[in-house]
Amino acid sequence: MKNITLLGATGSIGLQTLDVIKEHPDQFRLYGIAFGKNVDKATEIIKTFKPEKIVVQDEKVRRELLIHTDQTIILVGKEGLDEVSADPKTDILVNAVMGSVGLGATLTAIRHKKQIAIANKETLVTAGHLVMEAAKRYGVDLLPVDSEHSAIFQALNGESRKDMNKIILTASGGSFRDKTRDQLRVVTVTDALHHPNWNMGAKITIDSATMMNKGLEVIEAHWLFDIPYDKIDVIQHKESIIHSMVEYADKSVIAQLGTPDMRVPIQYALTYPDRLPLPPSKSLDLVEISTLHFSKMDMERFPCLALAYQAGSKGGSLPTVLNAANEVAVDLFLREKITFLEIEEVIENAMENHNFVKQPDLETINSIDQEVRIKTYEKY
Ligand code: NDP
Ligand code: MG
Repeated sequence: MKNITLLGATGSIGLQTLDVIKEHPDQFRLYGIAFGKNVDKATEIIKTFKPEKIVVQDEKVRRELLIHTDQTIILVGKEGLDEVSADPKTDILVNAVMGSVGLGATLTAIRHKKQIAIANKETLVTAGHLVMEAAKRYGVDLLPVDSEHSAIFQALNGESRKDMNKIILTASGGSFRDKTRDQLRVVTVTDALHHPNWNMGAKITIDSATMMNKGLEVIEAHWLFDIPYDKIDVIQHKESIIHSMVEYADKSVIAQLGTPDMRVPIQYALTYPDRLPLPPSKSLDLVEISTLHFSKMDMERFPCLALAYQAGSKGGSLPTVLNAANEVAVDLFLREKITFLEIEEVIENAMENHNFVKQPDLETINSIDQEVRIKTYEKY
């Protein structure tokens, strides 16, 4: 029986992780949860799973939660996230919070040699060099939850990394894959939140529409699989059936396929190297699907992807700037303060106006992250 601590329990990945835990009560127990402010959902989770430890975003949420629950330990903020991540009873940490707030918890869990299932991609984007260096030093594997990275991880099973020629990340194209730049000028928040293949949190759904999600995944892949940026390709594949591929030195390509269901990569990160049945998941029926489509990724139509390649390749503090400016830009768009196409402008401006730091340490990363957020909000 493994104790799971789930950061971001009330979110899209969080709730699907709970489905996996519920499916295998003999294997997993929910030991701890962290959430932001969705007290109603959290109360439901606490009543069903009875976790021992709970972390909330702030004091106000803690007071609200106390009205609904009893006999539980409620911790607060970043210190709370650190405490549950380091807790001796936590066997597996699932990091599924949204945004760079997940960074501290990932580093703490690494230092305490926990098994880590990582969904929170902003962590690797903003401080990939520090996270991977720590993982290496403490001998900890980061098991990817993101479907593309889980696919690559699976395609690498039993292979030698030195034979890896390139990674081919697939992209569904997001909500606006069939729209021209002109049409993109007038799209609304509601349009953007409607993803054709996946049902995800608001931030990542917008990131999918701007293609920044794929950009963040390129940077994530660079760190997870220690591969240079010129060996990471992105192609459009609208069905989201092939989750990603690895091309080897002999030009053999190994792909991982499946119906789009995040519970599959979530469960694999919890059970690796074993596999467990997942009954509610639909088998892939290739005859029914019959055709799969692939097309070239248009970097001009999706400048956010180009910005991510640029930030990743230059490295240093630029990915931190890219990530922080993107988090603010998406928030401004969701609150209808800027238009969809202004998202890329906000990020580009932040990157242009930044004083580059080559080897930022954690303190520098945190202060750049804060500075970019403050400056960007001030402008809009
Ligand atoms: P959601 O927005 O659905 O959920 C985010 C979760 O984080 C919620 O539980 C939220 O709590 C919690 N949270 C936010 N701020 C804090 C905080 N300060 N302290 C504690 N908890 C906090 O996001 P997703 O589940 O879609 O995504 C989570 C992460 O996984 C992201 O990094 C995303 O990029 C990545 N990911 C998601 C995929 C998906 O299919 N959804 C696929 C691959 C990666 P509350 O709602 O209560 O405020
Ligand atoms: Mg993904």
